[in-house]
Amino acid sequence: MAENKTRVNPQIGTPLAANATKVMMLGSGELGKEVVIELQRLGVEVIAVDRYPHAPAMQVAHRAHVVNMLDPAALRGVIEAEQPDLVVPEIEAIATPTLVDMEAEGWRIIPSARAARLTMDREGIRRLVAEELGIKTSPFRFAADETEYRQAIEAVGIPCVVKPVMSSSGKGQSTVRSEVDIDPAWQYAHAGARGAGEKVIVEGFVDFDYEITLLTVQTVDGVVFCEPIGHRQEGGDYQESWQPQPMSDQALSACQHIAAQVTDSLGGYGLFGVEFFIKGDQIYFSELSPRPHDTGMVTMISQDLSEFALHARAILGLPVPRIVSHGPGASAVIMAQGESNQISFGNLHTALAQPHTQLRLFGKPEVEGERRMGVALALAENIDQARKLATHVAASVTVTL
Ligand code: AMP
Repeated sequence: MAENKTRVNPQIGTPLAANATKVMMLGSGELGKEVVIELQRLGVEVIAVDRYPHAPAMQVAHRAHVVNMLDPAALRGVIEAEQPDLVVPEIEAIATPTLVDMEAEGWRIIPSARAARLTMDREGIRRLVAEELGIKTSPFRFAADETEYRQAIEAVGIPCVVKPVMSSSGKGQSTVRSEVDIDPAWQYAHAGARGAGEKVIVEGFVDFDYEITLLTVQTVDGVVFCEPIGHRQEGGDYQESWQPQPMSDQALSACQHIAAQVTDSLGGYGLFGVEFFIKGDQIYFSELSPRPHDTGMVTMISQDLSEFALHARAILGLPVPRIVSHGPGASAVIMAQGESNQISFGNLHTALAQPHTQLRLFGKPEVEGERRMGVALALAENIDQARKLATHVAASVTVTL
């Protein structure tokens, strides 16, 4: 929205002083942690919020609050108490109608309250993109109960993918490949949903050649794109990513065009992760995060300004003249499975023995089930080698619960 985009010459104050530039992170996961580090580097005062103590971003912020951000009064309370210059959502599960109200009262929500509201679940963004903007997506239907679910499967056809509307990291997501999968997919979606009685989306299965995340930065000076990021998912959760994903000029410019259109419509400044499926020269919009994206962690090694540094710059109204690539890079996740609140990581000498490798351990205080705990990063001559190296680093790290 152009009216949001008045250029100001930003100033940054002194942290913890009366003139501090204050940013509140709503959500304190591993992606928020890196945004906080980038804000700290620019002398911003940062307040981290999440529903549990010692979350990753809290460990690097000036202070932290433990708040249920789905509770409208609690959310408003923490924002009013801290008086931040910018409120930066890092997760979807926030009382976004409160953010819409507060934006109207003059609070600055990143990138915009509309973006936070429309991406809070899969329905808002799908309807905007497919129905209002007329952009190509997989065929889809929403279903609130079992009858609607069966009708949705009938309309979309098999194979299809079933997901709770409020979920991420593949929770509750499964593919219906034949009739026998229909009931289990419904049950599984409800087991993985964030709220009870939640809707599901039934999406036509796209037999894509590859999928990308196109990091799109809305800045004071206009829109800037990172090189496309390819990634591999298992059960809807990201395992490895690499940059640049080779693709035709035609497919890339089509993706850039749509990413600019959708992020313009959402409004505001910041970095967005826009996901596409690509089959030949056909592109399908899949979904979008109005903030750094997990597959974009590769940019911590592949670019001079990572997606987190870019987000920090964009939200502060600073320019992004050019993003310099360091060459083919890859990331591979480090997972833990089980139960512990004293996780330890070993064999690090071997893991980091080779040049052009890096490690991030998120410092999550506990594991219950399966959880992403870290990421390995690598640079190499080409994408294949970078992927092998990142995967080798990740696999070398031993996780003891
Ligand atoms: P999402 O949470 O919607 O990003 O889905 C996670 C991953 O599941 C995607 O990155 C794809 O690898 C896969 N996926 C999701 N929806 C579809 C679809 N309609 N067709 C094929 N694969 C899909």
